[in-house]
Formats: sequence, C-alpha cells, structure tokens
Amino acid sequence: MDYNSKIARNVASIPRSGIRDFFELVQGRDDVISLGVGEPDFVTPWHIREAAIYSLEKGQTTYTSNLGLLSLRKSIAKYVSNFFHVDYDPAKEVLVTVGVSEAIDIALRALINPGDEVIYHEPCYVSYSPSIVMAHGVAVPVVTTKEHGFSLKPEAVAAAITPKTRVIMLNFPTNPTGACASREDLEGIAKLAVEHDLIVMTDEIYSELRYDDSDPHISIATMPGMQERTILLHGFSKAFAMTGFRLGYACAPQPIIEAMMKIHQYSMLCASIMSQNAAIEALEHGTPSMLEMKRSYHQRRDFLVRRLNEIGLDCHLPGGAFYVFPDIRSTGLSSKEFAMKLLEAESVACVPGDAFGPSGEGFLRCCYATAFDDIRTATDKIERFVKSL
Ligand code: PLP
Repeated sequence: MDYNSKIARNVASIPRSGIRDFFELVQGRDDVISLGVGEPDFVTPWHIREAAIYSLEKGQTTYTSNLGLLSLRKSIAKYVSNFFHVDYDPAKEVLVTVGVSEAIDIALRALINPGDEVIYHEPCYVSYSPSIVMAHGVAVPVVTTKEHGFSLKPEAVAAAITPKTRVIMLNFPTNPTGACASREDLEGIAKLAVEHDLIVMTDEIYSELRYDDSDPHISIATMPGMQERTILLHGFSKAFAMTGFRLGYACAPQPIIEAMMKIHQYSMLCASIMSQNAAIEALEHGTPSMLEMKRSYHQRRDFLVRRLNEIGLDCHLPGGAFYVFPDIRSTGLSSKEFAMKLLEAESVACVPGDAFGPSGEGFLRCCYATAFDDIRTATDKIERFVKSL
C-alpha cells in the first residue's frame, strides 16, 4: 500500500516535533542530565493529588458537562479575575480543555477558513505552526531577536498584516526564550488588532512564572477594546506542576466559546473529571505551593544565566517561564551539532534552538525546571565541553 498517498497533504507536510525527536535519543539513558523537556521536576503538590484521589473514592468517574464542571469554571473565572483582572461569565465564557494544547487546536479550527493567515512570533512553542497548518491556515511567523530581548514589536506585527490576516497568536512569557511583553508593546499590538479587526489568541500558560515583582504579568485581554476579540488560554501544567492531568482552559466571548465547544464536544467530549476536581483544589488552595516552586525556579534561573555567561555562551536574563536561550554561535557549531556533541561528550541534553523555528538556529533551549544539583553539574559539564572545542 502506498501510505504516502493516503495521508492528508497538510498532515504529511508538517514535521514531527524537534523536541520529541531529540528526546527519543535520550530515552532509557540514566546517565543523562536533561535540561530538555519543558516539564516541572516537582511532583504535583500533595493536596492537589489528594483531590483527584477523593474524586475517585467518591465514585466521581463520569463525563462532565462539555464545557467542564460548573464548579471548576466558577473557580477559573474567580482566579482569572484576581490574577489577570479580566472578568468572564463561568456559564458561557469559559471552556475546560484537555491541556492548553487542545485549546490552541480548537481555537484555531474554530476561527480559520482555508487560506486565512495567522501571525505568531518566533522562536515559539513547537505546536503553533503545525496547529495553524492542520487548521488549513497559513502560518506567518514574525521573527524576534536576541538584540531586542526576543520581544515582539508592534511595527513587526504591522508589517506582517495582510488582508488575509485573521488571528495574531501571542505567548508571553515565551517558550523557548522566556521573553515577556512590555505594556507599551502589548498596547501597540492591541491597537493593530482593533484597527484591522483581528482576533488575538494569547497563550499565557507561563503567566504566574514571572520573576520581577516590579514588572508583573499583563494580559492583552485587559487592554481597551480587547476582551471582545481575545481568546485567553491558560492551564495547570506549568505553574501547578500538573502536566499529566492534561488540563487547560479558554476564556473568550460566548460565540467563540460556543464554536470551540462544538469541536471539543465532538472530539473530546469533556476533560477528565478526576483532573477537573484536582484543578479546583489547585485554584482554590494551590497558590502557596505554586509560589514555593516559583521561588526555586527564580534561584535556578539566576544561577544558570550567570554560569552560561561565565562559560562564554551569551545569555539574556529571561523575565519568565522556566527556560533560558543562550547564544551558541561563538562556538562555530550549529544548534543541532552543539546539542548532539554535548550529549555525546558530556551526557547533557538540551534542545537545539531550531526546534522552535528557523530563527532559533544558533541558540539552545535549556529548561531549568530541573533539580538545582543537576543544573550545577550540567553547567560544569557544558563548561568542559565548550573549553574542549
Ligand atoms: N503552550 C506553551 C507555550 C507550552 O510551552 C506548552 C507546553 O510546553 C503548552 C502550551 C502545552 O501545555 P499543556 O500541557 O497545557 O497542553
């Protein structure tokens, strides 16, 4: 059978995730220190795990409403109001999804007609461009650079807008660079969205993980004229260390939630009820444990950035998330060569920057959601490797 002719062209055209490809090489090797996969090293706080266990104990093993448990949507609306300062109606404007991953997919499918253009900033999370293509849209990356701290400038967005532009996708703090958006830049982008009547999808999954208290997280949804045209995406995987629970949510005007819900209803039906019960506990009582993890990430970030700069790998200080993105061009190696040789020579795994789009070439993503001692050992090994070149 010629399977190539059987696979849909848009699916055949997208590459597998560069992160997964790289980590298949590492699977089953106990000797490797991984600064690779973007996953907290913390186990989900016990009281949140307990809530999932109680859910099972009480026999809560059923489907929920397609939108998600109303009690969870109420907790989400309260949390979003306190944290992001934007109000949503839990009955109609909140949809609980299977991770932010599903929310990205169904938001794009709900909005895009074939050929519509979606602007996003790059280097970016690996799923953005493939999700746009799978929704039959056209991916329009806007390159961000180290020189500007990987920030997204409104002028660059303006230059990418065409009559076919439908959506702008944002992700601040950014995976893989840790970049955050300034109020001024967000205001400029919001103005463009209003002028050109565009929808903004904003993936704020790392929003709690901002380390400069004098520069708190701002959502574009709070800016004038924006709530009616913004889909705010958030979830539990990162700040609450709940990757395996597979839970996220979208907040948006009712007609957009309704359209997303139709896709969700026919593809997922609903998110797992055990996870939803755990998520209520996370939102209602999880902030102290979340802040404790954040303090630890903060220390690790400062250590890792200092060490990489000492080693001679120029590294900006990222304002958020749990990634650093050092520049490895001074070594003369490509991102892939650097990552492969580092793995071979020192058994340290980092992700080549080009996994996050062509503009990530020349960089390396190191995740510091890894035990402090491992980060210390990994940096010593990186130092020895760089000296050996
Ligand atoms: N969005 C960004 C920017 C991410 O970095 C990730 C995971 O790494 C996701 C979404 C996926 O999150 P979830 O586990 O909620 O599907």
